[in-house]
Amino acid sequence: MFSQRFNQLTPYVPGEQPQDRQYIKLNTNENPYSPAPGVSKVLKEFDAGALRRYPDPNADGLCQAIAEAHGIQREQVMVGNGSDEVLSFVFFAFFGSEKGPLLFPEHTYSFYPVYCDYYGIDYEKVALSDGYIIDIDGYMGRKACGAIIANPNAPTGILLPLSEVEAFLKRWPKDRVLVVDEAYIDFGGESAVTLIGKYSNLLVVRTFSKSLSLAGSRLGWAMGDEKLINALYAVKDSFNSYPVDSITQQIGIAAMKDRDWFDKTRAMVMEERERVGKALSEMGWAVLPSSTNFLFASAPGMDGKMVYEGLKSEGILVRFFNKPGLTPFVRITIGSHEENTVLLDGVRRIVGEG
Ligand code: PMP
Repeated sequence: MFSQRFNQLTPYVPGEQPQDRQYIKLNTNENPYSPAPGVSKVLKEFDAGALRRYPDPNADGLCQAIAEAHGIQREQVMVGNGSDEVLSFVFFAFFGSEKGPLLFPEHTYSFYPVYCDYYGIDYEKVALSDGYIIDIDGYMGRKACGAIIANPNAPTGILLPLSEVEAFLKRWPKDRVLVVDEAYIDFGGESAVTLIGKYSNLLVVRTFSKSLSLAGSRLGWAMGDEKLINALYAVKDSFNSYPVDSITQQIGIAAMKDRDWFDKTRAMVMEERERVGKALSEMGWAVLPSSTNFLFASAPGMDGKMVYEGLKSEGILVRFFNKPGLTPFVRITIGSHEENTVLLDGVRRIVGEG
């Protein structure tokens, strides 16, 4: 009854959303603050009658707003139904050829191997260097059809500085695409979008889910050379002409245009990240340096699973990755000030003061 393709799938498992009780949810890197006030206004004023019509298939107004916010041309932008969908189009368009496997870091966003299996793309993982840092040398001089890195990386939270991303591009073959997945870049990194005019094989992928507080709307985008962007439109139009609905297009414009709200809320998240990181370090935890809205950290004398289970029994959800090399850690999303205080109290109860 099922295709061979289907039988070989190993789906991605997102962070749990249990319904058994009220949890403090610090497990899926959502933003603790609401989206820009203009988003509520769009929702209140949206004319339901407009839903009779299909949405603008290429979301021109939204792409224009994104282009303006990043100082690039509209032709260099494409949007999709969450960056997960954009990434799926990216894998289809650019990866998988006789040139070799796709390269990505040994520890990174665990959806990448899932897309590879889905599209039948060979891949090889490249080891991180000491301190869980992406090692550029490991990508050079080997057979590859392309490369993708998350920057800052997930779940480590560690940033590769822009100068290093450019060093990667300088040494990387011009006929192979380097994708930089910048889901968390707004929490302390400098975007590679400034390099897209210089490197026509660079594609930057971003999301509205984290720094723009719109995980529930499912909106992501790609920025790169027009040739790469046109390829993504061709993939989209071979799959779904209208991936972004009319309400979401308007919401996205409102969120993208409100730079004050964006700057204020991301600054609050970064401030809280420093507070929580410092408190955990003082309790003897090892906390990796984070440029994201989460911390990847390990407790003294306890593995990640025990911490995860202990916090869950306290009504606090964090994420544990049951993968060799990552088991000492939990990934803790930065919540509101109050949520983080409850987290730290919970940590004191289950792990102690160190
Ligand atoms: N890239 C990375 C590195 C992520 O952590 C996530 C969030 N799970 C995504 C992409 C996907 O985000 P979304 O589909 O919500 O835009």
